[in-house]
Amino acid sequence: MNAIDHTHDPEAGSWVPEADGHPDFPVQNLPFGLASVGKEDPFLATAIGDYVLDLTALAAAGLLPAPLEPVLAQHHLNGLFALPATMRRALRHGLFELLTAREHAPTVIPMLQPAGLCHLHLPFRIGDYTDFYAGIHHATNIGRQFRPATPLLDNYKHVPIAYHGRASSVRVSGHPVPRPQGQSRPASAAEPSFGPSRRLDYELELGFWITGENRLGESVPIAEAGERIGGFCLLNDWSARDLQAWEYQPLGPFLAKSFLTTVSPWVVTAEALAPFRIAQPARPAGDPAPLPYLRDERDQAEGALALRLEVFLSTERMRFARHEPHRLSAVTADQLYWTPAQMVAHQTANGCNLRPGDLLGSGTISGPARSSFGSLAELSNGGSQPLLLPDGESRCFLQDGDEITFTARAERTGYRTIGFGPCSGRVGEGGS
Ligand code: CA
Repeated sequence: MNAIDHTHDPEAGSWVPEADGHPDFPVQNLPFGLASVGKEDPFLATAIGDYVLDLTALAAAGLLPAPLEPVLAQHHLNGLFALPATMRRALRHGLFELLTAREHAPTVIPMLQPAGLCHLHLPFRIGDYTDFYAGIHHATNIGRQFRPATPLLDNYKHVPIAYHGRASSVRVSGHPVPRPQGQSRPASAAEPSFGPSRRLDYELELGFWITGENRLGESVPIAEAGERIGGFCLLNDWSARDLQAWEYQPLGPFLAKSFLTTVSPWVVTAEALAPFRIAQPARPAGDPAPLPYLRDERDQAEGALALRLEVFLSTERMRFARHEPHRLSAVTADQLYWTPAQMVAHQTANGCNLRPGDLLGSGTISGPARSSFGSLAELSNGGSQPLLLPDGESRCFLQDGDEITFTARAERTGYRTIGFGPCSGRVGEGGS
């Protein structure tokens, strides 16, 4: 159970300067990540306001529950996510106490670093990465470009669709986005050719970090599946649409996706998001009910998330003119057709084992309106309607120098807003 407790009290404040008004990291959030300063060893960390707190040092100093010390000395969160959820909660409670009670300030201050001095790293050693396709408006918009009469295939409302992604090329926010090379066959050409992608796109997704492990052959019942997600992040499934269109049949995405996936560095915990669980929206009349292995009353009542996600574009010209990034879209996470728990229950239904630090992507999140579309392929209608930018530029797909940034905020009346921090990448750097 992700119970709401004193750590969610909107009146609670931290002695860390400016933390209480922070849009992402007030003391009610306490996300986990991996940070380093200069050339020194990385350390597990939490974000508090504009500071980063060294959990490895806190544990070594005996300021956190003793059983946590070995896992907080690691250079990844896999150890912590292999422990029962009670330990993750104990860590949250310990940090909350240290950061709210002023008498701890003299001890804790030496373990705080200004966030601007810290490098953030990939927080897990990712064993496996799966990307779902649960954004029904995205699936419909993309499907319509290929099959105007039947945008959604027959299976979509029955089975959570996914493919196995590439864990080795997942990187943290800020990693350069090289324009991938590949094979494509434009509609105008008779033969395929090889070269840089001309239809490079982003996909706005949520990422789910798996905690615990089910043995091979053992499925996770839907009633327990939600507990297998210990943390959340933003995820950009960079996509080369021209490569994708040529290669995807009959086995699905391959090189069009595997060149890079970007995640936000802070792991916003299931505990932090407890107040922001909401009902999964009712399915439209006429849609099939989920099969019993995907249906749980509690999951339907509180399995969705009250999250607002936004996408921003900053072009080279905009940065040169010192213009702010332009918001391309905004959408809420309850537009997903399947809950995160349904994705876990489905993936393990055949006995597939999910391990600590595995990453699941939600699929591109789009809403019904154009202002809520989560990819350029949708915003430009497959490249046929260029998107006009405020400074006179236009885009169908990403150009070199374009920087895409995702943000997410959990908002609900009566609770302090918490955020994920940015998930960014700039195209055309560090590669061909
Ligand atoms: Ca995707």
